[in-house]
Amino acid sequence: MNLIFLGPPGAGKGTQAKLLTEKYNIPQISTGDILRGAVREATPMGVKAKGFMESGALVPDEVVIGIVEERLAKPDCVKGFILDGFPRTVAQADALQRMLNGLDRAIEHVISVEVDNAELLERMAGRRTCRACGRGYHVTFDQPKVKDRCECGGELYQRDDDREETIRKRLTVYEAQTAPLKQYYAGESLLRPISGIGSIDEIQRRIVAIIEGRQG
Ligand code: ADP
Ligand code: ADP
Ligand code: ZN
Repeated sequence: MNLIFLGPPGAGKGTQAKLLTEKYNIPQISTGDILRGAVREATPMGVKAKGFMESGALVPDEVVIGIVEERLAKPDCVKGFILDGFPRTVAQADALQRMLNGLDRAIEHVISVEVDNAELLERMAGRRTCRACGRGYHVTFDQPKVKDRCECGGELYQRDDDREETIRKRLTVYEAQTAPLKQYYAGESLLRPISGIGSIDEIQRRIVAIIEGRQG
């Protein structure tokens, strides 16, 4: 089961991907989580990526393509994987196709989570993220059981790029660079659009229905 989660920042991709990793026991590959880890550890890649991320721009294609290539080669991906936040440009989608051809694998569904900008702003402005595992919570929509603590024990913080000005920039970048991937994957008959409005459970059921072939 090889899946892509496509959608604007704040749509709920990470939240849904984390639930599916538990349900199907396949890894979530979040380029954003991996990049934030590299920035925190100040690796050469992290140093290179930091400025792009802080300004709400995309990190250069070759950097993220390298991350995904390395990650897909790990043994835990043999049963399948969920790509969360990759690809984000046509060049990344083309590179992914080449990688998967080389591994004799193919994407089964590109789940496109649709949420309007007003809701996205509210979700991102209230998002709190776990420093340890990357899980997202929300100050009103998805509160942690223990204040400022993730279920994994990690500390919750507000991402630097989850401030209104940067959020608006990221939404513009999404429209210009990532939204064209919807046509790209529609052309391959892989696009499965779903509404991302509703409770986290409701959206999970929509995704599971697609995966289990009850729809789409
Ligand atoms: P969100 O979940 O809000 O969409 P992500 O965690 O996926 O945010 O990404 C945060 C930032 O990391 C992006 O704004 C971008 O700078 C960088 N990034 C993540 N994935 C990619 C990618 N596939 N290509 C380029 N930049 C990326
Ligand atoms: P993405 O990975 O697409 O950027 P996240 O999964 O991090 O998005 O979700 C963005 C924010 O919205 C988080 O604060 C999360 O708790 C919250 N959220 C996720 N799904 C829903 C939902 N269905 N309804 C309300 N808030 C949600
Ligand atoms: Zn955590």
